[in-house]
Amino acid sequence: MAKKTPAVIIVGGGLAGLTCAVKLHEAEVPFLLVEASDKLGGRVASDRYDNFILDRGFQVLLTAYPEAKRILDYSKLGLHAFYPGALVFRGGKLHKLADPFRHPLDAVSGALSPIGSLADKMQVGKLRQSLVGTTVKKLFEKPETTTEKALQDHGFSKEMIDSFFRPFLGGIFLDRSLKTSSRMFDFVFKMFSEGDTSLPARGMGAIADQLAAKLPASSIRMKSHVRNVQDGFVIMDDGDTMAAPIIVVATEGPEAAKLLGEEIQTTPARSVLCVYYAAQKAPFEEPILVLNGEGKGCVNNVCVPSNVARSYAPEGQHLVSVSVLGERDEDEDKEIDDEVRKDLKPWFGEQVESWRYLRSYKIKYALPDQSPPQLATAQRPVKLRPGIFVCGDHRDNASINGALASGRRAAEAVLTDLKAAGKTE
Ligand SMILES: Cc1cc2nc3c(=O)[nH]c(=O)nc-3n(C[C@H](O)[C@H](O)[C@H](O)COP(=O)(O)OP(=O)(O)OC[C@H]3O[C@@H](n4cnc5c(N)ncnc54)[C@H](O)[C@@H]3O)c2cc1C
Repeated sequence: MAKKTPAVIIVGGGLAGLTCAVKLHEAEVPFLLVEASDKLGGRVASDRYDNFILDRGFQVLLTAYPEAKRILDYSKLGLHAFYPGALVFRGGKLHKLADPFRHPLDAVSGALSPIGSLADKMQVGKLRQSLVGTTVKKLFEKPETTTEKALQDHGFSKEMIDSFFRPFLGGIFLDRSLKTSSRMFDFVFKMFSEGDTSLPARGMGAIADQLAAKLPASSIRMKSHVRNVQDGFVIMDDGDTMAAPIIVVATEGPEAAKLLGEEIQTTPARSVLCVYYAAQKAPFEEPILVLNGEGKGCVNNVCVPSNVARSYAPEGQHLVSVSVLGERDEDEDKEIDDEVRKDLKPWFGEQVESWRYLRSYKIKYALPDQSPPQLATAQRPVKLRPGIFVCGDHRDNASINGALASGRRAAEAVLTDLKAAGKTE
């Protein structure tokens, strides 16, 4: 029997491509999703390793993400929340900063900590209220500057910026220089204020798994790298061609630019290294993020995922996740391990020597640079020309929410065209 030609080929099975596929499938549009690697999820994936769950780079789901709320079933992800606040290593000690709205007692006891002045702490509350009181759309219409300039304009002290915002936002934007667009800062801070920071029980990869479970296996082709995209067909690495009247390119920005040409503008990559250790005893007990407030050494942030969701480590053990910003050479694992332990001894003491190195992930293309004017328009077009569409975090903003939104937008644009052509309801 001849194979049915799909109406749409989606190139790339990250969150954007998967969302696009889910939306097309719901509208009963036949599609084929081709993914280069052996795993769906792209940058949101988890591995099982020695009975630990290792996310491919430390990342979190912010439950307030509007797009995620719409497409994901949170109850089935078994989300576990972080403590809203952080421990900051500064002056040889760990200091707790709490969200004053959710943990007022901790916030009062932390008010005198050396991380920022009382005025800084009150300013956090003011900023939080102003962001909660506005819409995401309006935030992306505010004048754009760098995050650092925005924090200065809000009146935060240099001490507060350097010891808290630089490592905290540095870990999110993978950019301690805080050159990232202020629009991204407003958006992310609003999301942190309105919901939980969470990890799914089966790892971040469960987000992609949930989307993939809605799709027919016969519409997905793994280990299939697309070399070239033309109107009406794609060419695979082995020279094979696959035809469809509509192609949606759902790869990372630089790869989309390679496949589609100059219409896609790309920015340099933000890179990160994530090192995982097994520990008999967790270095701290709370489900909290620990930040480098000193600005010295290679480590930016640390967390113990198994304090957040116990399932991340086997019984009797804990998982420690350490993030180092920037790009590292492929063959320096031993040096990095030594550097990390040396950095973390003042934070947690001699116990770091007893940790068992598990493995590390060097993620060269983790996020696109989002310095102004990258987010001058909140959303970039998903239709390039008739038959050629594009989605991915580079169309919206570099986040899980941005990737999901771009995939949904691309599917909607495809459906509009199919409807206009009388090919769907
Ligand atoms: C370490 C790290 C930490 C992060 N932290 C957070 C966080 O805490 N919160 C948050 O909201 N976001 C975070 N992000 C960002 C978020 O993960 C991404 O913005 C989002 O996953 C991007 O999804 P995407 O579908 O646009 O792209 P991708 O996930 O990159 O998917 C692209 C897919 O296309 C495939 N592909 C590429 N080229 C081809 C080709 N030629 N042929 C076929 N297939 C191809 C790739 O294999 C990949 O599967 C983080 C990202 C990283 C890496």
